[in-house]
Amino acid sequence: MPAPRCLWCTDPPLDEVAVLRWRGPNPDTADVKERLTVAICRKHLERLRKAGTHGRENKGWMYKEGWW
Ligand SMILES: [Zn+2]
Repeated sequence: MPAPRCLWCTDPPLDEVAVLRWRGPNPDTADVKERLTVAICRKHLERLRKAGTHGRENKGWMYKEGWW
């Protein structure tokens, strides 16, 4: 088994986090929307939390913490 690593970098993850992933500006109107559980390091978890309900963009996808 490879060592677990963060979704967005090579650091070891702090925790598994429920995230909503979508395309477009608004999760309420997004056609493509996924509920995922991902491993994220401390730095990126803090950034995700700081982004709040507006979400954080990565490679064309938007992410925010929580499944709602
Ligand atoms: Zn990371």
